[in-house]
Amino acid sequence: MSLELLAAQARTCTACRLAATRLNVVFGEGNPDAQLMIVGEGPGEEEDKTGRPFVGKAGQLLDKILEAAGIPRESIYISNIVKCRPPANRVPLPDEAKTCTTLWLNKQLELIRPQIIVPLGATACEYFLGEKVSITKIRGQWLEWQGIKLFPMFHPAYLLRNPARTPGSPKHLTWLDIQELKKALDSLGEKPSRAIKTVSQESLF
Ligand code: SF4
Repeated sequence: MSLELLAAQARTCTACRLAATRLNVVFGEGNPDAQLMIVGEGPGEEEDKTGRPFVGKAGQLLDKILEAAGIPRESIYISNIVKCRPPANRVPLPDEAKTCTTLWLNKQLELIRPQIIVPLGATACEYFLGEKVSITKIRGQWLEWQGIKLFPMFHPAYLLRNPARTPGSPKHLTWLDIQELKKALDSLGEKPSRAIKTVSQESLF
């Protein structure tokens, strides 16, 4: 089984009610040998239209955050808990998340075998940790899931709703988190993706 074959199968999936309202299945994209896999909650409007993950405003902010830390988007793999857009961007229901992760995300993780997983936001964290969590309490902590390092971060959509850059703000904490993540990636021993550029938090956000 390859990722391409799995993606082809997923594109015709009708295993949960989200199939009825989606335009496109957003399977995920990126480096199939990625050391880092980012997992969000689910596709939004732009993602549904294009079939690509994290291409709307939140995705553009994620790109800026990755770029500022020197982590090329093409070096990682990006996906979501559910592959079809929930109506009006509601949170995926537990049965939708369970069905979709069982069918697709679990298999993506088996094929990619990342060394670090970054779940973005509470919904993604809850899948990996198996319980309700407060993202503000667990972000920036090194946890573990099935022997893989887990490093929860705020979802960029949350950062868009909380634009303050003051010390202790979600954006400030995310800036600290992405630098910690880059350090961890570089310590994995493979070719460093790129040197960290000197950027100010102001230019990042
Ligand atoms: S959300 Fe997942 S399980 Fe539901 S129809 Fe889409 S691909 Fe299938």
